[in-house]
Parts: sequence; structure tokens; C-alpha cells
Amino acid sequence: MAIRAPALANPYFPLKNITQNFDIVVCGGGLAGFCAAVAAARQGAKTCLVQDRPVLGGNSSSEVRVTPHGAAAFHAYARETGIISEVLIEERARNHETIFENGWTNSVWDLTLYDVARTTPNLTLHVNTTIVAVIDGNGDRITETPPAGAGFGYLHRPACARSRTLTAVVGRVANAEVELVLVGKYFIDCTGDGLVADLAGCEWRMGSEGSEEFGEPHAPAHPFPCARHGPTDTVFAPELGGAARGRGLFLRAGAKAKGPPRWLLVARNRRAMGHDSRGRGHPT
Ligand SMILES: Cc1cc2nc3c(=O)[nH]c(=O)nc-3n(C[C@H](O)[C@H](O)[C@H](O)COP(=O)(O)OP(=O)(O)OC[C@H]3O[C@@H](n4cnc5c(N)ncnc54)[C@H](O)[C@@H]3O)c2cc1C
Repeated sequence: MAIRAPALANPYFPLKNITQNFDIVVCGGGLAGFCAAVAAARQGAKTCLVQDRPVLGGNSSSEVRVTPHGAAAFHAYARETGIISEVLIEERARNHETIFENGWTNSVWDLTLYDVARTTPNLTLHVNTTIVAVIDGNGDRITETPPAGAGFGYLHRPACARSRTLTAVVGRVANAEVELVLVGKYFIDCTGDGLVADLAGCEWRMGSEGSEEFGEPHAPAHPFPCARHGPTDTVFAPELGGAARGRGLFLRAGAKAKGPPRWLLVARNRRAMGHDSRGRGHPT
């Protein structure tokens, strides 16, 4: 499918367009995208991995620091295997900080992922590249799709694709004034938020359905627009009259620090007194 010229034109900035062709384009360089891309490339597919951040790893990267020890952390006989295991072993060979917490949450992990991606044959890596649009099977550039509604009690966006296929994703390279048109035969959406699937017009839902919808006795009695994860990591979603998951704050103090900063002590005291940062009552 030829991509129509208007699909490439950017109305705001005269960006340089570069088109590249692949068998598989993997969107999002978290652990799901990293593993999918390495696996596809090892199978001989000409693969592209597109990541919007300067580092790979997504939630597991040193930017977010949710380490990938998963099941193995709590079970003596459990272990992540496959590509994750390979990379964990490689990381241990390079990183001499002790494992517990900070050992896996520093940038050696990011660099290990980066080196594996860069040295895997058949794999092209684009970091700092944000997917901003898709080009569908009609050659049309799609940057926006209709919003979701909460008609069922949870967020639901019906399918709205004008074409059943995708031709390319469009990635904007930060600070380079370059727009990459990544043409592929297959696309794997690992953006964590289903961004490509959303732009492609796929149906999606977010939240919990009520137990009646699928006859699941352990599901919540009533539908809810977003997942609830306890009062400390919910945010208010006023358009739905509900709360959505979000907000996290990681703090790390080096061994040389003389103690926590004053503002942290104040926050901790407030918490001990039963107030969170917004002054509401706190359960702990
Ligand atoms: C606070 C927290 C604690 C967690 N604790 C655990 C736990 O203990 N155990 C567990 O198993 N799981 C845990 N999880 C969940 C786990 O982090 C996720 O399941 C896992 O990271 C998902 O990996 P992923 O690759 O699918 O997504 P992500 O890690 O979110 O990666 C998605 C990647 O896509 C990139 N991206 C997004 N949009 C674009 C775009 N437009 N263009 C290009 N790139 C894009 C993002 O930058 C990101 O790097 C936790 C998550 C959080 C937030």
C-alpha cells in the first residue's frame, strides 16, 4: 500500500521524513517490547524496536525502577526464564552493586538491555522516538480517535477502524526534527497503554466489569471505570466520577547522606499523624 503524501506532511513543522521497512515493528521498549523484538529478530525477522524514552526497560528501567525479579523474589524455586533470565545474568556479570533493591534499579540494567538490543542481528533500535500516529491500510494518517465512554460502568471504546490493516507507525525523534515512518508487515503494541491499538481503531475497555456480565462470581458486584489499588495510589477521574490508578514516588538516599531531607521528615510526620499529602485522612 502506497502511503499518501498528505499522510507524511506535518502541518506544523517541516520535519525531515525518513521511511524504513521492516517485517515487524515493535512499539514500546519496556520488557514486553524488548523481549518481543529480540525474539523476533532471533527468528530472522527484520525487526524494529521503537521506544520513546532514552533508555529501554519501561517500568523496569532506572527511570521507574520496578525491578523484574517477579516470582523469583518470593519463591525459592521460581525463576524468570528465557530472554529475561539471559539479561538478568548478563546484568549481574556487569553490575557489582548488591542485588537487594538498588542493585537492580540502577542504570546498569538499562545499559545491559541497550547493549543486547544493539548487538542483536536483524534488530534496529530507535530510542527517543515517540509514536504519534499510525498510517492505516488506506494510506491515511491517524493521530486521533474518538474518546471512550463509560456507558457500561467501565471505560469502553468501540471499534472505529476505517481500515482493517496498518501500513506504518509514525515516530517523532526528540530534538532531531525527524519523523520516522516505520512500515511493517506486522506491528506489536507494547506501549503499556495500547496506544497503537487505540490509534488503529481497535475496541478496548478499561476498568472492571460487574460479576453479572460474564457470570464470574468473584468479580466485583458492580462495574467500575478503573482499577482500584487502594487509597494511596488512586487518582480522581472526575469525568467518570471515579478513581484511576496512578501516582508513585520513588526516593533513594545515598549512603553519604546525613539523613533524610527536612521536607521528607515533615511529610513522614504528617503521614504518621494520619494525613496524606493532600491533607486527607490516611489509613496507615
Ligand atoms: C508501581 C508499579 C509496581 C509494579 N509492581 C510489579 C510487581 O511487583 N510485579 C510485576 O510483575 N509487575 C509489577 N508492575 C507491573 C509491571 O511493571 C508491568 O506489568 C510491566 O512493566 C509491563 O511491561 P510492559 O513492557 O508491558 O510495559 P512498560 O514497562 O510500561 O513499557 C512500555 C514502554 O512503552 C513506551 N511507550 C509508551 N508510549 C510510547 C509511544 N507512544 N512511543 C514509543 N514508546 C512508547 C514507554 O516509555 C515504556 O518504556 C508494577 C507496575 C507499577 C507501575
